[in-house]
Amino acid sequence: MTTLVAVGAQWGDEGKGKLVDWLAPQAQLVVRFHGGNNAGHTLVVDGEQTILHVVPSGILQPGTVNLIGPGVVVDPEILLGELSVLQERGVLRDPSRVRVSGRAHVILPWHRALDKAREERARGRAIGTTGRGIGPAYEDKAARRGIRVADLLDAEVLGEALRRIAEQKNFELVEYYGWEAIDVESLEREAVEWGRRLEPYVEHTERTLESALRDGLNVLFEGAQGNFLDIDHGTYPYVTSSNCVAGAVCAGAGVGPTRIDRVLGITKAYTTRVGGGPFPSELEGEAGEALRRAGEEFGATTGRPRRCGWLDAVMLREAATVNGYTALAVNKLDVLSGIDELKIAIAYEIDGKRVEDFPMTLAEIERAVPVYESHPGFEENLRECRDYSHLPATARAYVDRIEALVGVPVELISIGPEREETICRVEPFRD
Ligand code: GDP
Repeated sequence: MTTLVAVGAQWGDEGKGKLVDWLAPQAQLVVRFHGGNNAGHTLVVDGEQTILHVVPSGILQPGTVNLIGPGVVVDPEILLGELSVLQERGVLRDPSRVRVSGRAHVILPWHRALDKAREERARGRAIGTTGRGIGPAYEDKAARRGIRVADLLDAEVLGEALRRIAEQKNFELVEYYGWEAIDVESLEREAVEWGRRLEPYVEHTERTLESALRDGLNVLFEGAQGNFLDIDHGTYPYVTSSNCVAGAVCAGAGVGPTRIDRVLGITKAYTTRVGGGPFPSELEGEAGEALRRAGEEFGATTGRPRRCGWLDAVMLREAATVNGYTALAVNKLDVLSGIDELKIAIAYEIDGKRVEDFPMTLAEIERAVPVYESHPGFEENLRECRDYSHLPATARAYVDRIEALVGVPVELISIGPEREETICRVEPFRD
């Protein structure tokens, strides 16, 4: 039995979806523990693309049970939509393959409306949220006025709660933002219907997890976003509204820290970021464009072009410290082929002083000028490589350097979007 946490080491979009899909055949349980449907996981199987936002990426593996833990915020319409698509594609025949915590909080239409209204109002200072209502749903959870999935199953409790909350939400929407009010009666009818359709999937998922651990199954915890979008450890306030670090598994899934065996940090071979906020190793102009084109760096959820830059070892060192990685996965190494000179940020210069550690404040991160180290690039197409030894020497030197700079072994390398385009140096689910 092995429990493995797979989390993003950068600003999300590290290709976690592909890797989790690759890891899933070795796991019997795949668990999401935080975030909402702002996490877009792109899976490519037999050339066919599936974008999942809520359902864990293990779903395409027939042998897995996929669990949505209490730390996730669930938009019932999106979840039900994904379940329908998966059913239509013949992937989901048995509802017991998807388990949803009754304790997970629900994203409601006012969360989406408030998310958009606020971003609109913030203009120049917008966080760049996906407008899906995730942040406002987490706010209500912390304010102890949220609605949970289990509440959807009890029409009476639900109706009373929706009417009570609507009063305040509609006041804010109408009076403060000048938006339209949400019609609470039709919402009530809709929410009861969500509950009816979700019921076969709802469970006390902490128990499901506990019994999987007792039975000695392999469990894969699938992170969303990445370390630098974590609400505590990221580039606040340009962050998401949940904890994305490996430690968040314990609260978000309901499992003790003593049960976690390994933590896999997932990074791209370069860096990208969506939305606002500082990005020290960002490449502007044609170099950034070229990387964006080669890596097809456009958001899976929003289609927004991603900002692109060189790999930043200062960030990865920080992420390794906070998450306690036992291994790294370096994704999209193939995207770098054809670039003559590769660079890695190994330190920053802030106000003329060299800094080795990721700074504490936003202002310092904004002033950070990367100190780069150059590496010879590689011309070869890497997508046929199946073993580390097949990689060109310069690509291996680049990976070895990442390992040395971060102090964590690189055990997996992804060299294309397809499952088999993966180089495994050490089996992640070894006992
Ligand atoms: P996630 O949210 O971390 O899963 O990241 P995305 O969904 O944004 O995935 C990144 C994109 O890159 C998807 O379109 C993947 O199919 C693709 N991808 C993943 N790994 C690789 C890789 O190693 N090489 C290439 N070229 N594409 C990849």
